[in-house]
Amino acid sequence: MSARAGIVVTGTEVLTGRVSDRNGPWLAERLRELGVDLAYTAIVGDRPEDMEAALRFMADQGIALVLTSGGLGPTADDMTAEVVGRFQGREMVLDEELAERIAEIVRPLLKRWPDIDEGAIRAANVKQATIPAGATVLEPVGTAPGLVVPPLAAGGGPTVVVLPGPPRELQPMWQAALDTDTLRAALSGATVYHQRTLRLFGMPESEIAETLRVAEREGLELSTLEVTTCLKRGEVEVVTRFEPDAEAAYEAFEELVARRHPDTLFSRDGSTVDEQVAALLRGSGPSGTPRTIATAESCTGGLLAGRLTDLPGSSEYVKGGVVAYSDDAKVGLVGVPRELIEAHGAVSAQVADALAEGARSRFAAGVGVGVTGVAGPGGGTPEKPVGLVWLSVAVDGHETMTRSVHLPGGRADVRDRATTVAMHMIRRALSDG
Ligand code: ATP
Ligand code: MG
Repeated sequence: MSARAGIVVTGTEVLTGRVSDRNGPWLAERLRELGVDLAYTAIVGDRPEDMEAALRFMADQGIALVLTSGGLGPTADDMTAEVVGRFQGREMVLDEELAERIAEIVRPLLKRWPDIDEGAIRAANVKQATIPAGATVLEPVGTAPGLVVPPLAAGGGPTVVVLPGPPRELQPMWQAALDTDTLRAALSGATVYHQRTLRLFGMPESEIAETLRVAEREGLELSTLEVTTCLKRGEVEVVTRFEPDAEAAYEAFEELVARRHPDTLFSRDGSTVDEQVAALLRGSGPSGTPRTIATAESCTGGLLAGRLTDLPGSSEYVKGGVVAYSDDAKVGLVGVPRELIEAHGAVSAQVADALAEGARSRFAAGVGVGVTGVAGPGGGTPEKPVGLVWLSVAVDGHETMTRSVHLPGGRADVRDRATTVAMHMIRRALSDG
């Protein structure tokens, strides 16, 4: 049996949905990078018996490493350290030096409240410095120390890594935990997995399901591969996990996907369309210089410009964007001929092209992108329903690329998906040479 890991996220605010969990997914990614197989994430409230039951469940499943988040603060409802200590059969002891280090951290923070009760502060420090005997202390990033708590006897249950709740504290502390011998020892027994990602755009998920059936018929060794497909922002993501000796089976599977979906498979190395567009813009200008880009958006309200400015190195090639929502803005700011809007309507191929062209010339950019569509409820008509979006990409010295799409969902979905379609069009326009 291979050693696996589990995560226990604590906090009534997370359980009830008031705060959405950022620690479970973050830790899951870190475990994946380490090649450690994550079996479960449990979310429990601030109740000791629930936390203990979650730990018990993980241990009963043979989990070798459990990471917990939250419940390390100075207040009475923060009791993760105590629960974990009891679970591991370890006595709670006061680490005087740790209490002093916490006091040092807290002292300057308390200067703002000169009348605060010294006794209460001391009690809080003592509480946070009372830890399971034999645990390795992870120095506080905020005020709470973390812990690596091994089982009493080697092989006698999971090693538990206790981390604080605030993500800005948990993240650096996880790095510190990795440097401890206790955690290294726990990780050394874990099975290492490889994970590879393929991305496709412009086809339904069912197509991949069919490809998996074909793979089986052709006798590919799928049993050694754990293939999961999911639909994300209009793209199909195929994530495959396998043990190192199944590399050949994976290569065969990837080849089959490439053969069956040559036009829609845009990433074989896991890179995202955003990363690819960034790389293309950076290097596709004359003699390898960046090619600049500008946008004129109506229904997406600047989301595309926002997404482009988020790309790595964007200041080298993103000139800017206009949100031209009203007809007047389209005419006055981007130079769309008013007759064009009157003749074809604001949501049309002609206006999308004029927006792209206008963005390119007004910003003196190498690439101009225009987006116009019906995103909001109440905006649609039978001919132009909600979800209809026209997009246009004009590249220096190339034929303009114009497309219309019908996107499902409400305003937020239509806007988000429209920016994704735009990113794919930019990618295609730039990779066509
Ligand atoms: P503190 O000393 O701040 O009390 P703590 O280790 O006790 O630290 P919690 O009380 O569980 O942590 O959480 C403190 C705050 O950190 C929460 O109110 C929440 O804002 C944030 N937080 C906790 N857990 C998560 C989580 N899983 N995802 C995102 N944010 C979280
Ligand atoms: Mg707390």
